[in-house]
Amino acid sequence: MSSSSLSSSASSHPLAPYGWDADWESEFAPYAEQGLLLGRVVRVDRGQCDVVTAEGVVRADTEFVVPRDPMKVVCTGDWVAVDPEGVDPRYVRTLLPRRSAFVRSTSSKRSEGQVLATNVDHVIICVSLAAELDLGRIERFLALAHASSSGDALLHTSALAWESGAQPLVVLTKADLVPDPVTLSYLVSDVENSAPGVQVLPVSAHDGEGTDVLRAVVAGGTSVLLGQSGAGKSTLANALHGADVMDVQAVRDMDGKGRHTTTTRNLFALPGGGVLIDTPGLRGVGLYDAEGGVEQVFSEIAELAKDCRFQDCAHTVEPGCAVLAALASGELHERRLDSYRKLLRENRRLAARTDARIRDEMRKVWKQRGAQGRAAMEAKRGRHG
Ligand code: GDP
Ligand code: ZN
Repeated sequence: MSSSSLSSSASSHPLAPYGWDADWESEFAPYAEQGLLLGRVVRVDRGQCDVVTAEGVVRADTEFVVPRDPMKVVCTGDWVAVDPEGVDPRYVRTLLPRRSAFVRSTSSKRSEGQVLATNVDHVIICVSLAAELDLGRIERFLALAHASSSGDALLHTSALAWESGAQPLVVLTKADLVPDPVTLSYLVSDVENSAPGVQVLPVSAHDGEGTDVLRAVVAGGTSVLLGQSGAGKSTLANALHGADVMDVQAVRDMDGKGRHTTTTRNLFALPGGGVLIDTPGLRGVGLYDAEGGVEQVFSEIAELAKDCRFQDCAHTVEPGCAVLAALASGELHERRLDSYRKLLRENRRLAARTDARIRDEMRKVWKQRGAQGRAAMEAKRGRHG
């Protein structure tokens, strides 16, 4: 089959509104041969998930993969293959390799990652213009977005391949509250300077400013909305849905066989194209293994550091430090350097906790193997002796 016929059949696929494309189609091909039913996870709860398939929404058990590895648990956004027949809950037989994964640490005391959303193409960071801009917070969200795309966040999903990443976008919400265009352009360039290479878009859900541009971005893939509570995420989500989410859901769930009409979803096909993932867990995420992300957000500091005299320069007191020189000349802002150091410190603490957890797990595995090995030896001895 040629790639053009693949893509044309993918675009007319009943799951095309949910992000089905030619790459997923070839990924799924071996399972299609086994007669499995393909779908995308729209919700996960209590060890089960709702999967939207060509035959409507089905309910399935998720505990097929290493259930104790939180990174391999089926998550909203995953493409899965489920049993074609039987009564709900069916079984999820396989998880297609993720293109990206959004991970956060589950609590301040534990360092396991929790996968919040997968196969995300656009990370929309919502920042309210109603409050003073907190550039440090924007950098934090950007680092998280970059980590999801750099593969760092897939650290523990060794069975899952990394293909391509999520693209961050900063949306400055409530732009109607900054009526002066000059002030607005200053705010936009402040954020642009903290987000090299990232699109910054002022949007107002109230007067519609910027919403068309946002709709066009979102139409090309799967998006998540990040940002503080009150940043305007729900309002924006409703604007993208063109109606209240609940209304949209009621209409959508008329398909299928009338099941799950009252359950809520966390993944939606948008009327203007594209998919939106919105889960309670995505609200208020922290950093997790985002060191690669931090380096990308602060790319100009990494660039400067190449000119430091010492390769392992910490940019604190070292002679010949290009970062400190840039600070002295005003080329680099103190706030930016402080923010960089703070995020790096936070990451190293998390990374140290993660390392400790991995060591513990390895120890358990070795112990188990040792015990199994001994049992096998004894069984052998018993047979021969
Ligand atoms: P969330 O917590 O991030 O989901 O934020 P919400 O969507 O609930 O919005 C928080 C508040 O900001 C609400 O009172 C909204 O009415 C208000 N808001 C949201 N979008 C806009 C906007 O474009 N302009 C103005 N002026 N207010 C907005
Ligand atoms: Zn230096």
